[in-house]
Amino acid sequence: MKNDVAHYISQTAKELQPSGIRKFFDLAAGMKDVISLGVGEPDFVTPWNIREAAILSLEQGFTSYTANAGLLELREEISAYLGTRFGVSYDAKNQIIVTVGASQAIDIAFRAILNQGDEVLIVEPAFVSYAPLVSLAGGKPIAVSTSATNGFKVTPEQIEQAITEKTKAILLCFPNNPTGTSLNKAELMEIAKIIEKHDLLVVSDEIYAELSYDETFTSFAAIPGMYERTILINGFSKGFAMTGWRLGMLAAPKEFVEAMLKIYQYTTLCAPTMLQYGAIEALRNTYHEVESMQRSYRRRRNYVVQTLNTIGLDCHTPGGAFYVFPSIRATGLTSVQFAEELLIQEKVAVVPGNVFGECGEGYIRCSYATSMPQLQEALKRMQRFLETKGIKRGEKIEQNS
Ligand code: PLP
Repeated sequence: MKNDVAHYISQTAKELQPSGIRKFFDLAAGMKDVISLGVGEPDFVTPWNIREAAILSLEQGFTSYTANAGLLELREEISAYLGTRFGVSYDAKNQIIVTVGASQAIDIAFRAILNQGDEVLIVEPAFVSYAPLVSLAGGKPIAVSTSATNGFKVTPEQIEQAITEKTKAILLCFPNNPTGTSLNKAELMEIAKIIEKHDLLVVSDEIYAELSYDETFTSFAAIPGMYERTILINGFSKGFAMTGWRLGMLAAPKEFVEAMLKIYQYTTLCAPTMLQYGAIEALRNTYHEVESMQRSYRRRRNYVVQTLNTIGLDCHTPGGAFYVFPSIRATGLTSVQFAEELLIQEKVAVVPGNVFGECGEGYIRCSYATSMPQLQEALKRMQRFLETKGIKRGEKIEQNS
C-alpha cells in the first residue's frame, strides 16, 4: 500500500466539505460549562409509550427484515397520518417508503430523479445536507438566496430568476432550518405557479411540519397541481422527539416511489424492525404529547425572539421549527468571528449563519430546544458579550430560576 492514503480516497469524497455545524461543535465539545444553542434536536426524550412499543416488539421477537418499503402496518398509519393531518392521500401499498431518517429520504429522492448535470434549486439559507446530496447524485445545486427584509421568505421572482433549461427540481423546506421561516398556503400557491410553468419537480422537506406555531401547516403536495410533481419528505425526529431512532418517511406518486425503492433496497434493505413498531405507536397514540411539546417550543420562541431584539440582535419571528436566525451585523463581526468569540468569551455555542449558504453571512442560528433556565443564562451571557462590543440595549436579563 502507498504511504499517501489520500491516494486511495475518491475524488468525490475528497471534494465533500465536512458539515460546518459539526466542525463548530467539535470545538465546543472540549470546553466546560458551555451552553449549546447549537445542534438542532428536541430536548425531550421520546414519549414513553413509543419506547415501550419498540421494547415490546423486541420481547415478542420481531427481529427479522420487513418489506423494503417498511411494515405495511406502519405505512398504513403513515398514509392515515398524512391524510388526516395534511389532507394528502397516499396509497400505503405503493406510494410510501419508511426511510432511515428524512436524511436518507432526501438522498434517494435526488438519486432517483437527477441525471448528470441537472440543476436543483435550493432556497438558502438551507439545511447543510441538501447541496452535498445533490452533488453526490450527480446534480448541480443552485442557490436561491433569500433575505431578512421579508423574513427569509422566498418569492416566485427569486425562484424564476434562477431557473435555466437545466433546472430539474427545487428543494423547499418550510418551516425552515435554519431560519424557522414558514410560508402560508397563499404564498405556496404563488410558488406553485412558477413550478408548473417551468415543469419542475419538488422535493418538499416537511420535517418541521408539526412545529408550526402561528398558521396551519400546508403540505406542498396539497397545493392544487403539485401532488403529481412532489416528493414529500417527513419524519419522526423533530415533531415526535425521535432523532436517535433514525426514522423518516417519504410519499410520492407511485412511479417515483418505484424508482426510489430500487435504490433503497440495494443500499439499506429496510429500516430497523423494532423501531418501526415504535413508530406505529407514535402515529397512533402520541398526538397530545406532540401538541404539548409544540406549546413548549412556542413559549420559548416568543421569549427568545423578544429577548434577542431587546439586547440588540435584530431577529424576525419565525413561524416554526426551533431555530431563530438573528442578525449580528450591528457587532461588525463576521458570523464565524461572532460564534468563535462568543464561545471563547462566554461559553455559548451558536452556529455561524454562513454554513447555511452565503446569504446566511451576518447571522447566527440559535436553537431554542433547550430548557428555559439554560436559555435565560445563554441570553444573559450574550448580552454581556454584546456589551463588550459596544451594544447596550434593554434591561439586564435576570434569571428566574
Ligand atoms: N431536514 C431538515 C431541514 C433538518 O433540519 C434535518 C435535521 O436537522 C433533517 C432533514 C434530517 O432529519 P432526520 O433526523 O429525519 O434524518
